[in-house]
Amino acid sequence: MTSVAIYDTTLRDGMQGLDVSFTLDDKLKIARALDELGVDYIEGGFPLSNEKERAFFERAGKEHFEHARLVAFGSTRGPGREAKNDTHVTALLEAETPTVIVVGKTWKAHVDRVLGTTPDENLRMIHDSVSYLKSHGREVLFDCEHFFDGYRDDPEYAVQVARTAAEAGADCVIPCDTNGGTLPSEVTRIYEALSEHNLGPLGGHFHNDCGTAIANSLAAVEAGAEHIQGTINGWGERCGNADLCVFIPNLVLKQQRSCTAADRLQRLTALSRYVAEKANIIPDKRQPYVGIAAFSHKAGQHADVLYKEAGLMEHVDGGLVGNERRIILSELAGRSTIVDKLKRYGDYDKKSPEVAELIQTLKKREQEGYEYEAAEASFDLLIRRVIGSYRPLLILKNYHLESYKTLEAPAKTVGRLFMRSNSHEIMGAAVGVGPVETLDHALRDALSPHHSWINKVHLVDYRVRVLNPEEETAAKVRVFISLSDRNETWDTVGVDENIVEASWQALVDGFEYYYNNYVLENVSESSDNEASENAGP
Ligand SMILES: [Zn+2]
Repeated sequence: MTSVAIYDTTLRDGMQGLDVSFTLDDKLKIARALDELGVDYIEGGFPLSNEKERAFFERAGKEHFEHARLVAFGSTRGPGREAKNDTHVTALLEAETPTVIVVGKTWKAHVDRVLGTTPDENLRMIHDSVSYLKSHGREVLFDCEHFFDGYRDDPEYAVQVARTAAEAGADCVIPCDTNGGTLPSEVTRIYEALSEHNLGPLGGHFHNDCGTAIANSLAAVEAGAEHIQGTINGWGERCGNADLCVFIPNLVLKQQRSCTAADRLQRLTALSRYVAEKANIIPDKRQPYVGIAAFSHKAGQHADVLYKEAGLMEHVDGGLVGNERRIILSELAGRSTIVDKLKRYGDYDKKSPEVAELIQTLKKREQEGYEYEAAEASFDLLIRRVIGSYRPLLILKNYHLESYKTLEAPAKTVGRLFMRSNSHEIMGAAVGVGPVETLDHALRDALSPHHSWINKVHLVDYRVRVLNPEEETAAKVRVFISLSDRNETWDTVGVDENIVEASWQALVDGFEYYYNNYVLENVSESSDNEASENAGP
């Protein structure tokens, strides 16, 4: 069976998604990461749209991609023009990419009402544009826009569009589900019908408006498609495109088909999070294969089985896609979960007194309202306290916050804090929009002269939950905080009746976790303690 070509359009279709934007530098970095994954094509964008896109092609053209071919995207010539004088077509040549992709109308209603031309002229536009680009030595791919809607409306014309592109020399013709309204059974039926028409290699481009973009891509492959387009994390217009982080493992591990990324699947989880980080979007925890929850298990009994026979509880080994199994902590957690968590600190077993003490501590803290399932960094500090490997970053003496608002100015909080750190008595002060930002800034103000690594650590998420709303304003709140140093992200928890105090606990845990796990560990691994004080992971 032929290998399936992977075509990434994160940098074009992906960027049309809500909240997705990348700088020029980020686009180049993502292109390199996609090449390392082994995708066949990287669509860089629409060179005619703006200066940033043009600059991307200029800079990307100087890169050496090991495997991927860079692709410029554009449309056919306009009605009544000549391809060689049409800026849409010439811009594709000016991008100087080895491959270009041309999009053309397939749905008659669009030809008439959007292009304002005749079905015959549309076919000539497609033929001229593809053959002109072919005559300049480019590999030419052809996207049949709204193919499935067009096929439903007039199958003969939709096939004629695909045939015209193929006859003009297109190297692959790609039926696109531009509106995302097609179901897998229909995809199968239509590809089977297309196979009768000798159209050369077919691809597939599916949007996720019915939640079926991946299922449709898989159905297309089963029905003969040799080229699939998608985006990292499934971002794209409206509900997005087929998620390559899910499609590729399904293709390789479930359909047993080959693709050039097949032996690099282990990079997928890191790539998914890297791209999310670049877009400043919090990764979807429940994303299949690469999400944090994908191989997370909660119940103690489940966990016991997992240690013995993982295959009974997981559809594949998460390690295959670079993800990892997580046993989530909770009251339900059995001793084996705790033993597993302790593994990295030494040889502990179910009978170790530390295990019993941790179970006791966990139960007590959970009764008080703490929850460690989504706060592994706080749990790590609990472990360190029990086994005696915890080194405090600071000892608080006091903090003082004051919020104010005037008729003219929005609310602000000022604060200061006093603490001891590494035998220094230190003080920090800050003004912020609210108490959490003020605490965070005051803490950095106090610590940064002694701990410059703190500037690498950022607050990336903050969530509050009221635990006992029946107590009204005296209710306890639970605060979760996520911090990141741009490589790793970790989560902490704090609980109190006072939201400032709950936030303070979570914030300090966040910094202490990094201090204990990265700053100090690097110092102890290094022979030159001074030099590595600032080192991070
Ligand atoms: Zn699209």
